[in-house]
Amino acid sequence: KERTFIAVKPDGVQRGLVSDIIGRFERRGYKLVGLKLLVPSKALANEHYADLSSKPFFAGLVDYMTNGKAPVIGMVWEGPAVIKQGRVMLGATDPKAAGPGTIRGDYCLTIGRNICHGSDSAESAEKEIGLWFGGKGEI
Ligand code: ATP
Repeated sequence: KERTFIAVKPDGVQRGLVSDIIGRFERRGYKLVGLKLLVPSKALANEHYADLSSKPFFAGLVDYMTNGKAPVIGMVWEGPAVIKQGRVMLGATDPKAAGPGTIRGDYCLTIGRNICHGSDSAESAEKEIGLWFGGKGEI
């Protein structure tokens, strides 16, 4: 069964968008198999965004995720093609390119505050679920 990691980032939590985002995945028919609210450690955020460590916005991105002004909701969703379809439901990474009807297309305008995250491949999903949900058998 396919699983993906979806997160509501601090701006999405602060703006009260958690229930909308969960609701979209529920109504689509996906199954919620893991959920936690946390302020991620720097180590977790660094590892989560390791592929972006050379980017100029990396330090700001990690600070935004970890500064505790609002927590993050980490979730694991399960169902057919959930990795690809989850990304479709989130919309383009840059909200300026995100279509109406997607989460980013409906609720945000800037890439630095794009509300949510979704794994971009089976390899990323496995890595991210392990990272955010830890030990074997937790979910
Ligand atoms: P996500 O992993 O969040 O679903 P993605 O994999 O489509 O997005 P990446 O290029 O890996 O896109 O970027 C990850 C995150 O880094 C983006 O969601 C955004 O929060 C942040 N980011 C990317 N580009 C920029 C930028 N130019 N300025 C600020 N933040 C950025």
